[in-house]
Amino acid sequence: MNKIAVLTSGGDAPGMNAAIRAVVRRGIFKGLDVYGVKNGYDGLMTGNFIQMDLGSVGDILHRGGTILYSARSERFKTADGQQQALAQLMEVGIDGLVVIGGDGSFKGAGKLTAQGFPTIGIPGTIDNDIAGTDYTIGFDTAVNTAVEAIDKIRDTASSHERTYVIEVMGRDAGDIALWAGMCAGAESIIIPEANYEINDMIDRIKQGHERGKLHSIIVVAEGVCKGTDIGNMIEEKTGFDTRVAVLGHFQRGGSPTAYDRMMSSQMGAKAVDLLVEGKKGVMVGVKNGQLIYTPFEEAAKDRHTIDMSIYHLARSLSI
Ligand code: ATP
Repeated sequence: MNKIAVLTSGGDAPGMNAAIRAVVRRGIFKGLDVYGVKNGYDGLMTGNFIQMDLGSVGDILHRGGTILYSARSERFKTADGQQQALAQLMEVGIDGLVVIGGDGSFKGAGKLTAQGFPTIGIPGTIDNDIAGTDYTIGFDTAVNTAVEAIDKIRDTASSHERTYVIEVMGRDAGDIALWAGMCAGAESIIIPEANYEINDMIDRIKQGHERGKLHSIIVVAEGVCKGTDIGNMIEEKTGFDTRVAVLGHFQRGGSPTAYDRMMSSQMGAKAVDLLVEGKKGVMVGVKNGQLIYTPFEEAAKDRHTIDMSIYHLARSLSI
């Protein structure tokens, strides 16, 4: 292994830059030439490679987004697109590729490895929805962003004695809603992994109101329904002044937290070490606090699970 490349693919997440930095610096530390591929798989097919030196990843550890840019590429899903990418990799003499992205990106990486080309995946998405790892890069930052926003909304909710429904991201997973709801003291948390009972939610809001609570905060994961749907139901059934806030792409940006920087640095370095050891077709992950790696196909077979004990605890603390 002499030359490796790194790309970011799918939705961006805070901490991707820290992971790129770790791949580049660890690669150079191990005596490798390291290339960055711009625009994800699109750049791989068009040969948009740049050689990275130590300075090229200076001053990015703390920045959100990705200096390599990210993309979604329909063409790369075709056999033709994959052949073109392999041809570009051969032309520059790249021996291994690190892909930072979500499970879609790993399917793409798996296609290259099926043709003999070594790839390693690093899970990068704010949603924390990838099977085979307890953690995905960007999740902690997204949760902190959501908590900060909810804290601010709580101030105004109290001043006006309002009920607020806050819709957070997470796609089909409820992790952001669960953590943000727990850490911001929401009265109810609505996630795809648990059935919600509208009457139970209404009862909780009314009970809180009766004991003098000035506000009610309901956090809903985007994978369940729109915040406005919940807001309309609450207003209809309680008559309380109810507002809805959709946090949206705020949650995707910002400087990564210390935890995200730590995970990105560790996973980035691990990916390079695995390539040097001759591993391929695996995703780096973390389980029970330990860095691990799992074959893409095995990770894809698993289902991401959520810690329901947090859900039950949150319910018992917000009575
Ligand atoms: P996020 O979770 O942020 O959406 P993701 O990696 O799951 O990230 P996708 O859009 O699913 O995002 O995938 C990113 C890119 O990976 C796609 O645009 C495509 O180029 C490639 N890809 C996805 N699925 C496949 C597949 N089955 N075969 C080949 N390439 C794929």
